Amino acid sequence: RAKHDGRNLHRFFSEAMQAVVAERASLELKLRAALAENRFRLFYQPQLDSTGRLIGAEALLRCFDTHGSMISPASFIPLAEETGLIVPIGDWVLQAACAQLRVWQAHVATGDLSLSINVSAKQFHQPDFVAKVTAAIERHRVNAGLLKIELTESVVIGDIETTVARMKQIKALGVRFALDDFGTGYSSLSYLKRLPFDQLKIDQAFVRDMDDGNSSDAIVRAILAISQSLDLEVVAEGVETSAQHERLLQRGCVMFQGYLFGKPVPIEAWPVG
Ligand code: C2E
Ligand code: MG
Ligand code: MG
Ligand code: MG
Repeated sequence: RAKHDGRNLHRFFSEAMQAVVAERASLELKLRAALAENRFRLFYQPQLDSTGRLIGAEALLRCFDTHGSMISPASFIPLAEETGLIVPIGDWVLQAACAQLRVWQAHVATGDLSLSINVSAKQFHQPDFVAKVTAAIERHRVNAGLLKIELTESVVIGDIETTVARMKQIKALGVRFALDDFGTGYSSLSYLKRLPFDQLKIDQAFVRDMDDGNSSDAIVRAILAISQSLDLEVVAEGVETSAQHERLLQRGCVMFQGYLFGKPVPIEAWPVG
């Protein structure tokens, strides 16, 4: 009887695993097809200063299937990273973002908007990444100072010097760097001091959980203090309520992004331009 159960259990697990493998294979095929058929889009989420002025946007990737349904990046970015598809997808993001930045630059009302793109560690460490960023800036003739690259702490793989050197090469073009989801990873303060970031983005988990005097509030205050002493800009992510906004303003935060101000939207729905 035990043997019988064991066999059933084995069959159960192998079927479940096959289902997972099949689902991943199908998603990978969908991503390849979406790339070939130009079904990726950038959505733009506004970023505001303390006076409520629009200062820029974060470009967030969306993938559409053949029926027009949207596939969320949370579900496809990890697989794209594993399969290496993130490299051609990331190339597309870089081109699309620079093309949009160029359009904004051509108009007075949008000429000083910055645009942030998310770059995964795998993409960043490709040998030709610096060359690709350089080429995109030249090709679209964008003001590099308005382009920002968001990295997460996972970008530091192996020795930190490699990452620092690469960041410096890109910064020499005028491009700026933001450290995304700050507070959720493992980076020590000494790392933060050595990596030439311009901006920290407070992870939305802290913004969401922040309440007077609780641990998230303490973390937010600490991040703001650190950023002040290291001369870094800070953006609070995931601001959904005016209570959160007020509290962040009280703590000295001056840049904001979140549903309170606007969800990510396709360019047709962007408020200015
Ligand atoms: P992220 O870069 O930290 O982006 C912020 C995420 O929070 C976005 O999710 C955004 O839609 C969401 N968000 C913004 N404001 C609020 C809010 O007020 N409340 C809530 N609940 N959520 C908010 P999204 O667009 O689903 O993207 C998820 C993640 O996928 C991004 O996190 C980023 O890590 C990754 N990603 C998106 N686009 C790209 C891309 O072009 N390349 C790469 N490598 N990764 C990307
Ligand atoms: Mg981001
Ligand atoms: Mg983030
Ligand atoms: Mg994130």
